[in-house]
Amino acid sequence: MLKTVANFDRIGEENAFAVLARANALAAQGRDIINLGIGQPDFKTPEHIQEAAIKAIRDGHHGYTAANGIPQLREAVAADLDKRFKAKVSPDEVMIMPGGKPTMFMSILMFGEPGVEIMYPDPGFPIYRSMIEYTGAKPVPIPIREENGFAFSADETLSLITDKTRLIIINSPANPTGGVTPKAEVDTFVAGLEKWPNVAVMSDEIYDQLVYDGETHVCLLNYPSIRDRLILLNGWSKTYAMTGWRLGYAVWPGKLYDYARKLSVNLHSCVNAPTQFAGLAALQGPQDAVHHMAVEFDKRRKIVVEGLNKLPGVSCIMPKGAFYAFPNVKRTGWKAKALAASLLDDSGVALIGGPDFGILGEGYMRVSYANSTENILKALDRMGEFLSSRKPPDQVSGCHPGRAKRDPGSMPPPARAERWVPDSRFAASGMTAAPNR
Ligand code: PMP
Repeated sequence: MLKTVANFDRIGEENAFAVLARANALAAQGRDIINLGIGQPDFKTPEHIQEAAIKAIRDGHHGYTAANGIPQLREAVAADLDKRFKAKVSPDEVMIMPGGKPTMFMSILMFGEPGVEIMYPDPGFPIYRSMIEYTGAKPVPIPIREENGFAFSADETLSLITDKTRLIIINSPANPTGGVTPKAEVDTFVAGLEKWPNVAVMSDEIYDQLVYDGETHVCLLNYPSIRDRLILLNGWSKTYAMTGWRLGYAVWPGKLYDYARKLSVNLHSCVNAPTQFAGLAALQGPQDAVHHMAVEFDKRRKIVVEGLNKLPGVSCIMPKGAFYAFPNVKRTGWKAKALAASLLDDSGVALIGGPDFGILGEGYMRVSYANSTENILKALDRMGEFLSSRKPPDQVSGCHPGRAKRDPGSMPPPARAERWVPDSRFAASGMTAAPNR
């Protein structure tokens, strides 16, 4: 028996990747799968960004770069933060990272150990809790509530701080809920933190360019009272459709910068050089693609929410950011994960059950609308068909969420009176929903 470090038995993962693998496996068997499970833009990286990486390879940028990134990219990030938020950041505080995730990984490693507490949003991005557990710190969930529009509540968050709290993770616009925390709430939160000068904040702002309904993103860099304990997580993955390039950045305060730089030297040496040139072209080139994507996501957001609200037993508030809707499915009678598994296996629609994002995620599903309108409408139609014809399995006895025997006589009354009617836009497209039954 190999004797390994116990912490590894506590490390979690992101179920979106398992759902992606299952969806791909079913597609490889010839099934028609619509993936509303994965959190990545369905757009291609804009051409000029691709070209910049190709040019960098041709220009001979094949070697290591500085561990913290090429200076021109760090300067471009600082200029971008100034342009968008008037946030004054020195390029020497900016570190180029291989994606957004490494910033949360490193921050949690810097603060987590047994005996301390780290607060994180629940429901929230699952890697926060996973890494907190890994370090042995106590994970303290910050409840993110539907009745609050899935924004975090400053007062509730502040009330959870103790003298053991070392780090608070916040995320707006949020995964998986699409919630956007209003400025007034952030103001209250930051003001309350003045009583807790030893508590650090990691603000995950990776969806900062995806806000709708005239909301403006509130960048935590604009709060001077916490600048010396604020870690900013951001990156190119969502904004520029670059998830596979692995490019992100962090702003680290004080000594944390050098900790992160050393961790990078020990771990990945640097982000691959051509990708950094691509990131430079993204920041300095035309931003039309960013705006185009945001406009497109906004349109789909309205379609997906309208469609979800027509499904039996489902209600969905309008998310204000990111590209996720987080419908409430409690009245369907299904447990969220069982529903997600059955929808994938029976109807070929991949979604993620809310509990994959935390304890408070039960009763909700994450629907990513980073997919074509046509596919979204088709998926909604399949979901409607499924929910109006299938009863939840016997969840008390823990019955497998597979196909339940059809027994109309014992079906619970429909959560809503109306029968499922396919979306007219979908019907008008001349296509028929073909649930994989
Ligand atoms: N933070 C949040 C809230 C995310 O949703 C994601 C990606 N799904 C990340 C960070 C990680 O981004 P990256 O792929 O750049 O590591």
